[in-house]
Amino acid sequence: MHTPTLNKRAWTHATLLGMVLISSSVRAGSIAETIDRVLMAKEAELIEVRRDLHSHPEVAGEEERTAAVVANRLRNLGLEVQTGVGGHGVVGVLRGDLPGPVVAYRADMDAMASVDPDPVSFASKTPGVRHICGHDMHTTVGLGIAEVLAAHRSELKGTVKFLFQPAEETATGAKAMIKDGALTNPAPTAIFAVHCAPLPTGQFGSWPGMMLPGLDYVQIKLTGEGDLAAAAEACSQVVASVSSTAGLTPDHKNTDALDAAMEPGAFISAGVFASAASDEGWALTAMARASSEAMHARCKQGIEDGLATLELGNVGYELEYTERAIAPVINDATLVARSDEVLRLVGGDTAVVELGETTPFFSEDFSFFQEVIPGVLFFMGVSNAAEGMLGMPHHPMFVADEAAIAIGVRNMSTVLVDFLEGQAPGTP
Ligand SMILES: [Zn+2]
Repeated sequence: MHTPTLNKRAWTHATLLGMVLISSSVRAGSIAETIDRVLMAKEAELIEVRRDLHSHPEVAGEEERTAAVVANRLRNLGLEVQTGVGGHGVVGVLRGDLPGPVVAYRADMDAMASVDPDPVSFASKTPGVRHICGHDMHTTVGLGIAEVLAAHRSELKGTVKFLFQPAEETATGAKAMIKDGALTNPAPTAIFAVHCAPLPTGQFGSWPGMMLPGLDYVQIKLTGEGDLAAAAEACSQVVASVSSTAGLTPDHKNTDALDAAMEPGAFISAGVFASAASDEGWALTAMARASSEAMHARCKQGIEDGLATLELGNVGYELEYTERAIAPVINDATLVARSDEVLRLVGGDTAVVELGETTPFFSEDFSFFQEVIPGVLFFMGVSNAAEGMLGMPHHPMFVADEAAIAIGVRNMSTVLVDFLEGQAPGTP
């Protein structure tokens, strides 16, 4: 069992340097003392909560049991709790005893369809459903932060609004919660969240600007008397052919004049993930991620043009292109800079990884909250090579290191307190 201890050396070091960005109370460490006390008493219980959630996973839109667990725990901590927000979403409002702003913390709750065996002792009891994106970890970290900040209430300057979100995997939960008023009454002015990542446990990573790309959904329907399977293969090749990366190797098939004009780090990543006979003929579903609006436009144009030039004989096609089915995760640069300082204070210099570029393989509907208020999504390292734990979301071998729960609670509690104090009246 991992027992967290405050990184006293890093704390003292940062205090001596007199970090100008971080609020004085966070530097002085009163929240650190609360965190130590709460984690000492509650870490084992939080791990049990996580194992319970892990063994009872619920897919997007069906998070009834998970939401009940969350709501009960928040009520027991004395939070104002609202259930059924945007589906099975739960909102918990923690009002500090001192005046200050409102900040939001989001944790997603849903699991995924997966038939691969789960190597942990507390494996899923629901056949075909499993937490392989770590949302059980996210939910538990959110509950741990609520424990810490509830214990810190007498010193808390402002309000923390916890958003336990359903249906992230279908990218519908965030929008539904916003529609149901999750960002009003009280209205937070910033939002934070973590997502499990294959970084080593103890490390957090972020990136100002576009952290994760937006996603377009592409559906192609084929009908007619011709060879539908062959036509579907030709359409799949068109979709794949628009994938491009700046700085291609000379033998890459996508090398063309346009690629040379792409900005550094630019990319289009498109591919068909479902292709099968349907009632009407044949249906293909594809996803396309891109590094900018210009690249999204180029992707769409490339698919439209490519399909138009295909010789499909007696097969007709219908293209349905949904732009920004998921918005890009765009982290607020000022909040990233400040919170990175906080994370270094808490965990030392090696606790923060500056990712350096957009991660092209995933999207996250946390982005829809960021369209309303500034926010930061952090990658939370949950890999532990020595223990054989690979924290790669959606990988069949996904296993999260539970030591990351206490670290996530420590890091995010401190970031939230620092944000509130940074904006509270009369705080240096
Ligand atoms: Zn996820």
